[in-house]
Amino acid sequence: MEMQNLVGKVAVVTGASSGIGEATARLLVSEGVHVVLVARRQERIVQLARELGERAMPVVTDITDPGQVATLFNRVKDRHGGLDLLFNNAGFGMFSSFADSQPEDWRGMVETNLIGLLSCTQAAIPLMKGRRGAMIASVSSTGGRYGVAGWSVYCATKYAVVGFHETLRKELGADGIRVSVIEPGAVWTEFGHGLAPEALRERRQNLQALSPNDVAQALVYAFAQHPRVLVQEILVRPVLQVDP
Ligand code: NDP
Repeated sequence: MEMQNLVGKVAVVTGASSGIGEATARLLVSEGVHVVLVARRQERIVQLARELGERAMPVVTDITDPGQVATLFNRVKDRHGGLDLLFNNAGFGMFSSFADSQPEDWRGMVETNLIGLLSCTQAAIPLMKGRRGAMIASVSSTGGRYGVAGWSVYCATKYAVVGFHETLRKELGADGIRVSVIEPGAVWTEFGHGLAPEALRERRQNLQALSPNDVAQALVYAFAQHPRVLVQEILVRPVLQVDP
């Protein structure tokens, strides 16, 4: 299959300390990409960078803090001069019925899954202009396409990611910047705050949930297409997950 050579490209991966982000960072580095690892848990990303070698650089960042986001992208500019891939992956969900949910949980999800993603995207755009085949790819969810009882605010943030991308694609297309969204179904990660661990494990077992690397491969597939090709949206789910 014909794919672009990714050696020497520069990527920022948010949420690189676990799950999908960690797997994506590993896969990108194995393809020769320089990867900036972003998360709050310093020890995780420092350890991962040690393991991945000189192509990986950890930058501890809370994406909900605009000052930290500005520092992150200044460091990317100083170190690499530009950026080819922003993988907006950091996010989380707090699950409960809406009637029982707490406003601070709503705020946490909106600030991380949406406003943090917007801040990273806005800071990244100037670094991507003029870079052939540049791409902004963000993780939404099957919950960004279908409502799920108990996930109301999480779904609202993930629907918002899809809506934002549909517009951003139109604003950045003329600059040759590709804007893509990935909507995973159930994946084996640390994700699932507020859900009973045993029930979550059983659900994932029953569905034969995806591995984080399955999602990473979807991202690399999209990124490695010819620069004229936009893989606009990827919904990737376990075969057994027929609903939602
Ligand atoms: P994990 O919990 O394993 O990873 C979430 C990552 O986000 C961690 O690296 C965490 O790092 C990072 N993160 C959270 N908040 C912040 C913040 N404020 N600033 C910086 N980093 C942050 O779960 P997943 O890998 O599953 O989640 C990745 C994405 O996939 C999320 O957007 C999630 O909504 C989405 N998703 C997951 C599905 C699943 O079934 N697992 C299904 C559909 C979508 P740290 O805590 O160190 O800051």
